[in-house]
Amino acid sequence: MSNIHDMKYLKDKVDELKATGLYKEIATLDGPNEAECLVNGKKVINLSSNNYLGFSNHPRLKKAAIAAIEEFGAGAGAVRPIIGNMKIHDELEELLAEFKREEAVLVFQSGFNCNAGTIQAVTDEGDLILSDELNHASIIDGARLSKAKKARYKHSDMEDLERILKEDRDKYNNVLIITDGVFSMDGDIAKLPEIVEIAEKYNCMTYVDDAHSSGVLGQSGRGTIDHFDLHGRVDFTIGTLSKAIGVVGGYVAGKKASIEWLKNRGRPFLFSTALPPAAIGAIIEAIKMLMESEEYTDKLWDNARYFKEKMSTLGFNTGESETPITPIIIGEEAKAIEFSKKLFEAGVFVSPIVFPTVPKGTGRVRCMVTAGHTKEQLDRAVEIFETVGKEMNIL
Ligand code: PMP
Repeated sequence: MSNIHDMKYLKDKVDELKATGLYKEIATLDGPNEAECLVNGKKVINLSSNNYLGFSNHPRLKKAAIAAIEEFGAGAGAVRPIIGNMKIHDELEELLAEFKREEAVLVFQSGFNCNAGTIQAVTDEGDLILSDELNHASIIDGARLSKAKKARYKHSDMEDLERILKEDRDKYNNVLIITDGVFSMDGDIAKLPEIVEIAEKYNCMTYVDDAHSSGVLGQSGRGTIDHFDLHGRVDFTIGTLSKAIGVVGGYVAGKKASIEWLKNRGRPFLFSTALPPAAIGAIIEAIKMLMESEEYTDKLWDNARYFKEKMSTLGFNTGESETPITPIIIGEEAKAIEFSKKLFEAGVFVSPIVFPTVPKGTGRVRCMVTAGHTKEQLDRAVEIFETVGKEMNIL
């Protein structure tokens, strides 16, 4: 028998992943995450980041981060409810509430933490969590932590959602309907007006994860609620500060009572150290930049439309995306992985997305166009896609 400390059982699992081509090698950046950057020492056009607005290396954010370090130090020193809550944490929450046009906001250390902490705190035994089947992993894990019953409705299928409520609504106290605002693997937008109507009809609460819509949809990137003009009709809106905003962190926006409850029962908020001053300072600057001008979101959409049109004209299958997330659907998992490798060799970094992240047989590379790309970079990327696509008989 092998020594248990050899971790043979884990090594076997890793070997299996490698044998089936599902082991993920992690690339390393030699500098900042930008539209064109050094990955594993090679200069490539970056079509994989969530840095939608090009904020992650923006001089204004860096300057604000340095100023926050000078004033508040490198670390917060404690969890916020003990003695880690600084003036800038409060300032950020007030600014975000104004930006999102909500009563109040609570900031968590990440979007993942925010889902993990919020869903379990606002649901209980006797409740039902009703989740779109394609919701993000952090929603799935957050729901798992709750004592409520869980059910899934078919992706964006309003008939299925209503069928479940018709059959089961009366069996539960509270029902929480959860959806991604923009679905991260396909780039489609949730049917939020219909979800809200159904929720109102059956007296259910609504919860929208706007990770891929904050900074992208709505006026100056205020998100899906603003995009559909549903202010005041969604109970919980989650956002991340790590994608378009360019830094790190997550937040939940909603009614004052919800935020006060989460300040007392949101476990990651209670038990994990506050975000550092540098991050908060940079985020405040990013939100101010969005509130000052629509220049960044306009540039993002201009680039996204430009790239998408060129790719579909070439004959690539760009799926049902309605946002800058542009999947290039290949089908077979191994072929999607091979496509990504060949694109990298030719000068484009775009990561493959395969089962179990997306359904079997829908392997793809997912292109994330940003405001930071120049048209010249996008043209070069399209050219490389065309050459490699023809070489691999994808086109
Ligand atoms: N929700 C969705 C829909 C996401 O795509 C992500 C990020 N992958 C998260 C939540 C988690 O956000 P963060 O990276 O800030 O933890």
